[in-house]
Amino acid sequence: MLIEKFKKFLGLDIKEEKYAYASDPLFGYTSASKIPEKWIKTTCGYCSVGCGMLLGVKKGEIVAVRGDEDAPVNHGKLCPKGLSEHYSIKSPQRAKFPLIRDHAGLHERITWETAYQQMVERIKATQQKYGRESFAVLSTGQLVTEEFYALGKLVQLGFKTNNYDGNTTLCMSSAVVGYKQSFGSDGPPGSYQGLEKADVIFLLGANIADNHPILWHHLIKNKHGTLIVCDPRKSKTANFANIYLPIKPGKDIDLINGLIHLMIKWGKVDRAFIEAHTHGYSDLVRHAENYPLEIVAVRTGLTEEKILQTAKCIGNAQNVFFAWTMGINHSTQGSDTVSLINTLALITGNIGRTGAAPMSITGQCNAMGTREFGSTSSLPGYRKFENDKDRQELARIWRVREEEIPKKRGKNYPEIIQDILDGKIKALWVVGTNPLASFPDQQRLKAAFGKLTLLVVQDGFHPTPTTELAHLVLPAAIWGEKKGTFTNSERRVNLVQAAVNPPGEAKTDFNIFLDLALYLGVREKLFPKWRTEEDAFEEIKAVSSGRLCDYSGITYQKMLELGGIQWPCNDQNPNGKDSLYTDGVFPTEDGKARLLYVESSPKPEDPDNSYRLILNTGRTVEHWHTRTKTAAVPILEYLAPIPWLEINPQTAQYYEIRPNDKVALISRRGRVKDLVVRITETVQPGQVFLPFHYFEKCANLLTIPAFDPKSGEPNYKQCAVRIEKMPVANGAEAMT
Ligand code: SF4
Repeated sequence: MLIEKFKKFLGLDIKEEKYAYASDPLFGYTSASKIPEKWIKTTCGYCSVGCGMLLGVKKGEIVAVRGDEDAPVNHGKLCPKGLSEHYSIKSPQRAKFPLIRDHAGLHERITWETAYQQMVERIKATQQKYGRESFAVLSTGQLVTEEFYALGKLVQLGFKTNNYDGNTTLCMSSAVVGYKQSFGSDGPPGSYQGLEKADVIFLLGANIADNHPILWHHLIKNKHGTLIVCDPRKSKTANFANIYLPIKPGKDIDLINGLIHLMIKWGKVDRAFIEAHTHGYSDLVRHAENYPLEIVAVRTGLTEEKILQTAKCIGNAQNVFFAWTMGINHSTQGSDTVSLINTLALITGNIGRTGAAPMSITGQCNAMGTREFGSTSSLPGYRKFENDKDRQELARIWRVREEEIPKKRGKNYPEIIQDILDGKIKALWVVGTNPLASFPDQQRLKAAFGKLTLLVVQDGFHPTPTTELAHLVLPAAIWGEKKGTFTNSERRVNLVQAAVNPPGEAKTDFNIFLDLALYLGVREKLFPKWRTEEDAFEEIKAVSSGRLCDYSGITYQKMLELGGIQWPCNDQNPNGKDSLYTDGVFPTEDGKARLLYVESSPKPEDPDNSYRLILNTGRTVEHWHTRTKTAAVPILEYLAPIPWLEINPQTAQYYEIRPNDKVALISRRGRVKDLVVRITETVQPGQVFLPFHYFEKCANLLTIPAFDPKSGEPNYKQCAVRIEKMPVANGAEAMT
């Protein structure tokens, strides 16, 4: 009775009470005024886990969010970001109107018509004067796949430039190249079920407890498996490991080579699989001889005992699930490290079964969509630019001349920045990303942006560090305001639905692309009869039919019913497929995978007498990327309002630093002041960790502009820095 009275007092005495109670992360309960009139199914717009959720709508506003209990990805659970995502929609920094920068550098409101005319005319004029490739486009992993697909066509066939890439190059392009090198195609072969079923889960450079929290819920369902975590930082995830490998930064290749050596030496390889389905084993055997245990232990900083323990677990397991994120990808050797992990999985026969896969865990909610259909690193449907048959096929479906489709990919993200610096690229269109916080070596980037004669920024938020510099700002709808599909890390295509209208005059990116096509005079040619995102999806299905990433059996309705579908989905797999390569046949010319091997190279920058520490950058559970979304969410800002610098107690003692002291962190490229110190054994002596979300104290003022030569992915994880203690004002203690 008392409980009922209390519920009434809180306004929870109605049908939806259990959801309403859980729906407001700021206050912990919801008043009757926030009880939704209806719930709309959608998918979280932050990370690549791809959690299903329901948006509670009342009077045209999203007033609540709850996890979708029927979603196979998350079974009703959401992390703090997902639970509070609807607050980002109400951010005071939403971009509402098209803007143009006047001569005084101030932004003033204009109509959409003026914005489109200005953009198209100025890009055309630039291209006429300096050539087509003088215009470049940088997009994101945040759009729906239908938008990526439309943008790719618009850029390549409409604006006729293939200098087009996305911020996805900053997080997972090395996984793409690594998969292509080993298997002949991109495409993560495993599924989240693997985390529950594997005998061994080997996480490399992956702090999923912070960065992919709902994946952690799959992992803890695994009651029999051994968790091995390899990470220089003893992260939340590492704290739960059965075996923790505190590897020296940048030494993953040595460790994997050492494990390959032991597998071969002990005969723990799958000879039948190797012979039937791979190339290159004898070369690999010769190469692995250079990695005896004692050498690997010295190079990696790991004890021989830990390496042997790890090797025994892998060698004796039926199913090993290898998974990695940015700790592997963010390196000048990221692509080759990915291929080497694939090699270890292949020789031990750990592919093609639930629980046995080399699995790249992607970062953004729809990085996979742009990989599959974005026309950046591949043509849609994982087609190759350089493959005549692929281009002919696409030209037939698109009803365009084959010559209109580029024969090679254009410049990648870091190459585009270099070309701007070199004066070759003059005009840039940035869609849904914030380079003025996220790209390494911000001083260099600012110098590049200062040279542009036209910068168009299309974004859901304004001002951001990047929109502030824009000549034109195009206001875009964000998650919760648009429809389409996201593909998550396990290849699951999920439906995304609009629950509310965008603010002011903001439009969906999809409609902006279609409008621009109209002003460019290519609307009917590129997007015939397209009216809605579902029309684009129907074309995507046709383009993907028969390809590895086959969407042909997916419909919007079926995604709603099944809670997303893992491609390939076609006549043979009407409800999708859990694992790729179940038959051991790979999308290479002869169907066999390549056993690539690689030597480790020196890091781009090692500590020396002037810069004695190694900086590691990364993420935290409360925030997302450059905080354009999460800074507007009160509970997340309350939990993590400022960045901090993690320092090992030994390092702190050396520098005479105490907890909560403020320090400046300095690299050869820049300085970040007033960082509050956390003294913790999470980081090893000689290393420091700084979260990269805070543009106010931007980690990328310090990071090095060194990139994987194959993928273009930056080496965000290691650079040399030094610490200076900040003076204490008026003799007072420096406080947080
Ligand atoms: Fe969203 Fe990722 Fe959190 Fe799931 S784990 S709720 S997808 S941020």
